[in-house]
Amino acid sequence: MHLRRHDWAECPTCGSRLWYGLKAEATGWTVYYECDDCCFDKRVGWVAMADVESRDDAANRAREMGAKL
Ligand SMILES: [Zn+2]
Repeated sequence: MHLRRHDWAECPTCGSRLWYGLKAEATGWTVYYECDDCCFDKRVGWVAMADVESRDDAANRAREMGAKL
């Protein structure tokens, strides 16, 4: 899974900037958030393939999930 550095979401445990990524599944993507500086590692949601136009759109939704960690 390729992780991207989030531009604003912060780790709820230590305050560092988080990384996020999408894990491809048969019908969509599982969204994960991870912290480099502590053990925070969370499956934050799911993006269904049927709900998005493209993988970029899926990545945008994953990014927006940073607002409700
Ligand atoms: Zn952290």
